[in-house]
This record gives sequence, C-alpha cells and structure tokens, in this order.
Amino acid sequence: MHFSLDKFHEECGIFGVFGHAEASTLAQLGLFALQHRGQEACGIVSSDGESLYQFRSQGLVADVLVEDELRKLKGSSAIAHTRYSTTGANTIKEVQPFAVTCQHGEIAVCHNGNLPFAAARRVELEKEGAIFQSTSDTETILHGIARTPARSAIEAIEKVLQKVDGAYSLLFLTPKALVAVRDPRGFRPLVLGKLNGAWCVASETCAFDLIDAHYEREIEPGEMLVIDENGIHSRMPFEKKQPAVCTFEHVYFSRPDSIIFGRSVNESRHKMGKQLAREHPAEADIVVPVPDSGVAAAIGYSSQSGIPFRQAIIRNHYVGRTFIEPQQSIRSFGVRLKLNPIKDLIFGRRVVLVDDSIVRGTTSKKIVQMVREAGATEVHMRVSCPPTTYSCYYGVDTPDREQLIAAQMSETEIAEHIGAESLGYLSLEGMLEAIGIDSAAACSACWTGAYPTLVANRKGA
Ligand code: SF4
Repeated sequence: MHFSLDKFHEECGIFGVFGHAEASTLAQLGLFALQHRGQEACGIVSSDGESLYQFRSQGLVADVLVEDELRKLKGSSAIAHTRYSTTGANTIKEVQPFAVTCQHGEIAVCHNGNLPFAAARRVELEKEGAIFQSTSDTETILHGIARTPARSAIEAIEKVLQKVDGAYSLLFLTPKALVAVRDPRGFRPLVLGKLNGAWCVASETCAFDLIDAHYEREIEPGEMLVIDENGIHSRMPFEKKQPAVCTFEHVYFSRPDSIIFGRSVNESRHKMGKQLAREHPAEADIVVPVPDSGVAAAIGYSSQSGIPFRQAIIRNHYVGRTFIEPQQSIRSFGVRLKLNPIKDLIFGRRVVLVDDSIVRGTTSKKIVQMVREAGATEVHMRVSCPPTTYSCYYGVDTPDREQLIAAQMSETEIAEHIGAESLGYLSLEGMLEAIGIDSAAACSACWTGAYPTLVANRKGA
C-alpha cells in the first residue's frame, strides 16, 4: 500500500539564478529547500550565454541531482523545478523545465500554477498541427511563444502572457536572460533575492536562506522581471487585476521558515492557533499538534488557552513509497507509517488535537482513533482554517468536491464521523486576520467557492 496524509498538495516549487559561477549547484540547493512543494520529479536548465543545458529526472532532488549531472549543467544562470505528480500522466515527459528551440532561439520554462483554459487552447493548437510532448498546460505557453512574431523571445513571452488567464509564477531562461513572471492576481508566490552580485528567484524565501542569499522583495502580482547582463528590469505589461493570493500557502503549503506575500508563515500559523483558541475553547489537559504543519498553530492555541503544549505525536519523515500491509490487519496501519503517539503523554488526558486542515477526513479519523488508543479520555479536534468545501484550480492538487468531507457533512456530523468529542474550525475572518491579508486581495475559493477567475471543467457541483 502507499500511504500519504490527507492534504491538498502544492504542485510545484521553482528556483532561478542569474550571474553566478555555480548556478547549477545553487539551483540544486534551492530545489532541495523547496522539496516540500513537490517530491515526484525535478529538473534544471542552465545557460552558459550561448546554449541551454537540460537535466530532468523522476525522484528526489538529493537522489537524482548528483554531482556528475550538475557538472554537465554549464554556465552562470539556471532555472529549476520540483514537481508533485497529480493523478494522470507521470512520466519523464512531464518533468520541467521544458526546453525548446523556435524562431526566437532556445527557450526553457518552468511553472508553478495552473492555466484553467489551457486544455481548450491545446485542442485548437493540435487541430492546427501542433505536436505536444507532454500533457502539461505549460507547454501551450511555449507553443504560443514559438508562433508569435516578435523582435525577441522576451517580447514574445510578454505578448503570449498578455492573452493567458490563470495562475502562474513562471521562470523562463534564454541563453542570455532569465525572466520571472507572476500573474496579475498573484495566486502563487514568487520572491526575489540577491547573492553577492547574482540574482535569485524562488517560490519561497527558505530557498534563499540555504544558499545565504538576501531576500530583497516579493515579485509583485503582474510583474515581469527580466534579468540579463545589463541588470534587472521590471515591467508591468499585463492588464491590472484584483490580486488573489493563495491563503492556503500560509495554512499549509509553505514552510514555516518562509516569508510569503511579505508575511512570516510561522507567525501566521501561530496567530491562527491563538484565534482558534478564542473561537473554539476546550476543557482539556494538553494541546497536541498533528505534525508537522499543525505545530505552529498548536503552540498558538496553547499560548492563548494556557493549556500545556505537548509534542505527543511523532512523525516519521523517512517513509518510502510502498508497503505491503501485514495480512493480519493492524488497525490504523497506514497512518502509523507516518505518525506514532507517545502514550505516556496522552494516557488519561483530555486532548486538544490541532491540525491545519481536513480534506477527506480519512486521516483525521485514524489519528483520532490512534490518540484514543493511546489512552486519551477525550479528543477535541481543532482545525486552523475554515472547512474546505471546494476544489482548487490554481496549481494545487485537490480532490473533487464530492470527496471533501466538509462539502458533504455538517461540523457535528464530521465530529461524529472522525470520532472526536468536539470539532472547531477557524473562521474565514479569523484566518484572514491571522495571515494579515486583506480579504479583497486574497483567494479563499476552496473555503467559499468564490473563484477569482472563470473556471473550466469544474470538479463537482
Ligand atoms: Fe489557494 Fe484555495 Fe485559492 Fe487554490 S482555491 S489558490 S488552494 S486559496
């Protein structure tokens, strides 16, 4: 069996560097720091000013981006991508960065996000005779660039993206330039850093910390940065739109040591926990996080409520891909591969269990059962975001709406289903206040169904 925790999954992490003698090594380290955003495959394209060099592979960054491969990635600039495989195609052809040669020369691209209307565009292109290598929406952008008359690759990129709607943080590499673009709503994060004289871009600032780069600023929604031998040039070439940054980045996707949308993720989660305690107090003896993403919120809950924090569930980070379930079935086998309770801390106690989100409810049920079997007298589940009731179309792997437990059951029914004495979700207002993002500038569609764009092929009602 293969077991993974029941969560929404970010689909990609991206990193780029321009003007550093060790570009491919820095790209490898940057991706390593972003591994939590995608564990299925990774790749780097580098440039030595004349040509592009590509490496792509399925597997973890530390396993596949080995020294011999990095040595072949020549040059002082690079873009890199780590990918979480969604259901469907999972072959080397899907692994980014993609690299092509067209009328504008060599161009490579990597993408964090999703283009909801790419499927329709792909059908049109195929009818016109276009040949696709992958099933990825990102490839439609490359086809657009290849077909766009322009004086340069940069101008073609700009013209194509002016016609694209959707969620994209994109990095392009040509032999002479690195281009970083964030869509006008800014769904997915993208930050700019500096390392001595070199420029770096990344999904999250934790990638800069590892390589000792200085975090300069967020790349703004709708901003296109061109970095070449003449320096860094910012432009805003797209129609202005109301920003809609992904609030789930602060709830779960991003690392707590990152700064996303100009805010510390750890601080947001801590405040969410405090607000959760105000909104849903509980009579209990200990506050226990579901590791790892529930930890900061649980500390916040504990500090607000005065109930002692206990790290009473331990996570095994080294779970491989597949296990054969013992024939004499072990209860909660799947969840125990990843999580195990410390019985001494739990036995005889009333437990507030803090998790960041509940998706299908399958894991929550097993965790509650596990905590009860460890001797908890009561389990009060607290969730540091509102009930997730809608699918995401902006670069996050989510199940269909019918599979989202909060779209199908009331909170009382969910509490009963997972076997908890009580259940409390953080309110939308409480979450947004904790993150410090104006609700008008945030995407909260997976909680409200208010999608900031038109959505093609909506999953479920
Ligand atoms: Fe993020 Fe949810 Fe919006 Fe998707 S729908 S971008 S997960 S807030």
